[in-house]
Amino acid sequence: MIDMIAEWVARAKRLVVFTEAGVSTESGIPDFRSSNGLWARYDPGEFSYQNFIASQDARRRYWQLGCEIYATMRDAKPNAAHVAIAELEQLGLLDALITQNVDHLHQRAGVSPERVIELHGNATRVRCLSCDLRYPRDEIQSRLEGGEDIPSCGPPCNGILKPSTILFGEAMPLRETQEAERRAAASDCFLVVGSSLVVYPAAVYPIHAKQSGARLIIVNLQPTPHDPYADAVAHEKAGPFMQALLQRVRQIRSHVVRP
Ligand code: ZN
Repeated sequence: MIDMIAEWVARAKRLVVFTEAGVSTESGIPDFRSSNGLWARYDPGEFSYQNFIASQDARRRYWQLGCEIYATMRDAKPNAAHVAIAELEQLGLLDALITQNVDHLHQRAGVSPERVIELHGNATRVRCLSCDLRYPRDEIQSRLEGGEDIPSCGPPCNGILKPSTILFGEAMPLRETQEAERRAAASDCFLVVGSSLVVYPAAVYPIHAKQSGARLIIVNLQPTPHDPYADAVAHEKAGPFMQALLQRVRQIRSHVVRP
């Protein structure tokens, strides 16, 4: 099975990789949507975009929780799956990487930022909702850790600051969702890693890819609703599987005569 997948990946002209929480759990970042995840302990409705905008109290609670989550992300290291995907790009194989993760671990593993399409934003940036000024999250994090409870933009703006991640109830970013759809439809090999493919829009990209004639490969510990029509399915952990896959892809590539 893995040999067949390696053949497809190694010979792909437009490989698109799609990742979600399953890629980052091996770096110690919890899957917020899992049954014992964050949203099983907190009410996601309380942290909606609408509440964040409307209520200072909601912003205070959001930053309190976010401070904890961001500290975990900042201290996490890219794992074997992140590294393998970055090395696929170095081999000239990666057309685009679509991710629902906001942890920035793909970029830290070495994937070019221009190839990463982030559907849920990126936690390393913070934006002022009034003047659009961008702040590095590390700077805001220091302010939070220094005792500020609701960070705001500097004077005279004093606008509301919001992490550049998509909150519940907030619209998906249009440019990213359109670009992801375009790349998925143009791909000839669509590789899903660490996603249960149940949440929109994750659920639609494999369909677009498959309908356009791409091979669909799914690597996820648990079964997904798309398994029945995928060309190959591996119910395995992302890191070890991607590492083994990369090794085989390298072997195949070393025998391919390139122009
Ligand atoms: Zn501002």
